[in-house]
Amino acid sequence: MKNIVISQLFGQMADIMEILGDDRFRINSYRKVGRIISDIPSDVETMLAAGQLEKIPGLGRSSLAKIQEFVKTGKITAHQQLLAKIPPTLLELLTIPGMGPKGVKVVYEKLKVTKIGELKKAIESGSVAQLSGFGEKKAAAIARGINFLEKSTGRIRIDQAGAAADIVSNFLSSIGGIQNIQTAGSLRRYAETIGDVDILVASKKGEEIIQSFTEAPFVQEVIAAGPTKGSAMIDAEAAPVHVDVRVVPKESFGAAAQYFTGSKQHNVRLREIAVKAKLKLNEYGLFKEDKILAGPIEEEIYQKLGLDYINPLLREDRGEVEAAKINSLPSVIKLNDIKGDLHVHTNASDGNCSISAIAEAAKTLGYKYICITDHSQSSTIANGLSPKRLVNQIKQIRKLDEQIKGITILAGAEVDILADSSMDFDNKLLCDLDFVIAAIHSGLASSRKKVTKRTLKAMDNPFVNCIAHPTGRLIGQREPMDIDIAAVIKHAAETSTALEINANPWRLDLKDIHCRMAIDAKVKLEIGTDAHSIEGLALMKYGVATATRGWATKENILNTFSTAKIKSWVAKKRKALS
Ligand SMILES: [Zn+2]
Ligand SMILES: [Zn+2]
Repeated sequence: MKNIVISQLFGQMADIMEILGDDRFRINSYRKVGRIISDIPSDVETMLAAGQLEKIPGLGRSSLAKIQEFVKTGKITAHQQLLAKIPPTLLELLTIPGMGPKGVKVVYEKLKVTKIGELKKAIESGSVAQLSGFGEKKAAAIARGINFLEKSTGRIRIDQAGAAADIVSNFLSSIGGIQNIQTAGSLRRYAETIGDVDILVASKKGEEIIQSFTEAPFVQEVIAAGPTKGSAMIDAEAAPVHVDVRVVPKESFGAAAQYFTGSKQHNVRLREIAVKAKLKLNEYGLFKEDKILAGPIEEEIYQKLGLDYINPLLREDRGEVEAAKINSLPSVIKLNDIKGDLHVHTNASDGNCSISAIAEAAKTLGYKYICITDHSQSSTIANGLSPKRLVNQIKQIRKLDEQIKGITILAGAEVDILADSSMDFDNKLLCDLDFVIAAIHSGLASSRKKVTKRTLKAMDNPFVNCIAHPTGRLIGQREPMDIDIAAVIKHAAETSTALEINANPWRLDLKDIHCRMAIDAKVKLEIGTDAHSIEGLALMKYGVATATRGWATKENILNTFSTAKIKSWVAKKRKALS
């Protein structure tokens, strides 16, 4: 769909015109056209060809000509002409939190600032604070905005976003006058990284709530504050997080939750269905002409569109709308389907607690089993176990398993796959374990051929039951290995080896779309927290969310099985391959 690009071009034209001091009426009309285009549920190009675009209210003849030009040539002459009138780096200034076109216009005209670096210097020299409409406070806020921009890609991990949302939600819930509160956006969908945190509030007291929010002690910088919406950078666990709070009447809370949860593509599909049924769907409700059909309750929006309710984690336009039409959405896995954690470390390697402490903690979570999987000898930084230490640990586990009632403690290991594709322990030792995880911890940057071969070869071992964190990525810090994931999935199916969904929010590895590929290939997935402490066991929810986003049902996940079923699953591979 070209809609998004065209809409952004109109928005950018409006920004440039504003910087150049163009006529207010013209600027506003460009912005409006941008919004109209982004709201059109069907492809602009198709509509143009069918002669339907001219029927959309608000699109005048000159806008239509520009859209036509873009569809034909991939550019808009008026946009190019505007771009030529400003230094190209000026648009970068608009990406700074707290800098709008108005601010850019002033620093450009008065200080000849065209780049982020120049703006930084101008702030340091004090000249930005002296500009009319700026002042010390605003200059400092912009400096923080630049700092934030330089430090981050603008996207944060799900756990950081969740922590920020909790801070704001708890605060808002305590101030009174709130009828309902709900996170929305990519956080509610459990996307692996989050741009900004969206929080939706149902209340009659919009202005008061926004004021309390923007004056809250955790707010670092207010980006915008209006009668129903506040935007601020907040201080959460050492990372600045952009949080938007929106207040809506309770009559449209469900519609707003649906709308602001997205994804954009999912919402486009829903609006198509509404348009076909001659209905109107927006953040206020689902309407037939002026009559509201659904609004307060999100489920009713789906129901009135003739769809099964769609779990927010599935709202990515990956076939969920089609499935909801014919009652064939998967019955996705839930956190309480999980019967145990098969990937945990103790203080024998790089964890911080004893076997009995983590087993007791697992028991309080209602788990039936826990598998101790400390590192193998080659992971020297992680104090990996020598064969002799592992033999002793197995003995210790067997003894504790008898002593501690109510949970089975399984003996396992996270064994390094060495550079020559062999395993860090010999099969005689692996045979004494209940469950073996294999993992690559070194040489992650080697060639696609090499890392793929190492992984496939490990799966050929009859004692290897699972490949941990198959791509090795660390979100925001390390790229995944260049591994042939399709080949890994195919071979996992052939060898009855499970692939891990590492639940640590730094990893989420496999990721959602790879989980779905694995499920389609009938590969079992294991959700492991890779906990190095008792608190680490709580990360399971992120793994379950990733599995859900991959459309996993409980049958697809190994650690929803009983202890006996896991044992027989392990025995089957040993028998088949030895
Ligand atoms: Zn590992
Ligand atoms: Zn581990």
